[in-house]
Amino acid sequence: MSVDSAWIARAEAAYLGLALGDALGATVEFLTPREIAHQYDVHRDIRGGGWLGLKPGQVTDDTTMSLALGAAILADGGEVHALSCARAFDAWMRGKPVDIGNTIRRNLIAFRRSGQPLAPPSEHDAGNGAAMRVLPVALATLCRDEADVRLAVRAQAHVTHNNPASDAACEFIALAVQDFVRGEALRTVYRRRIAPFVAASPQFAFRRRRRQNPSGWIVETMQAVLQALLETDSVESCLVDVVNRGGDADTTGAIAGMLSGALHGMRSLPPRWLKALDPDVRATCQRQARALVLCGRCDA
Ligand code: MG
Ligand code: MG
Repeated sequence: MSVDSAWIARAEAAYLGLALGDALGATVEFLTPREIAHQYDVHRDIRGGGWLGLKPGQVTDDTTMSLALGAAILADGGEVHALSCARAFDAWMRGKPVDIGNTIRRNLIAFRRSGQPLAPPSEHDAGNGAAMRVLPVALATLCRDEADVRLAVRAQAHVTHNNPASDAACEFIALAVQDFVRGEALRTVYRRRIAPFVAASPQFAFRRRRRQNPSGWIVETMQAVLQALLETDSVESCLVDVVNRGGDADTTGAIAGMLSGALHGMRSLPPRWLKALDPDVRATCQRQARALVLCGRCDA
């Protein structure tokens, strides 16, 4: 396989989609759909605020952890080493990020004590914190075979979340993003990835009823994301759909943003959102997306 410029453009759209979904969703994180409707009618602009008191266009841990991970992968020449990931996340935590999940904090503090980068398996660590930052791994392993992609995904995920439901979602997201970056249609990805993912892990079944108020539990997060992705036809409509469900809206926004960005591409990113996004974040996302795809040695 060789990299074509369309892949790089879709990789950039995925990374920007992640940041845009995070910035859009953070305003309404932990609100209910009813509270959002009361305050905004429909929340559709990047305006900051929210419980974190963000500046307009500011992003949260979903994006900043992804950027820390992406930098670590690039420093290792495109390889995903758990110890490098753990060091990068630890340095990120020392930088006093605006927010940090409980599972992530606990397991990074354990890493500081032990130097051991892999968290112990835990049935409780089924949050969405490893899935929200999986994109750089997907981009760096675009031309590897599926088994290698799954190993790389787990190496980064297990630093903080060593849990089968988190693993299933992280692997699914990475493989689906890769299909979209390579130009596959939603129909194909549904057949190849979405249907088998739900068949293998039926707790993720998402067709029964609309998932409102998705929590940080990866199962509810993915139900909301998949409903929004399949019921919309652009990045804007997908992200507006998912964040107006409330709950963990910055993270559903981030995951829906990477998938819909890769699927619909740069032309689908609303200019007013790109203008509102923190310019340093915007530039770093684009630079990393390109570098990660190119470091994947697709031409080898
Ligand atoms: Mg966040
Ligand atoms: Mg969140």
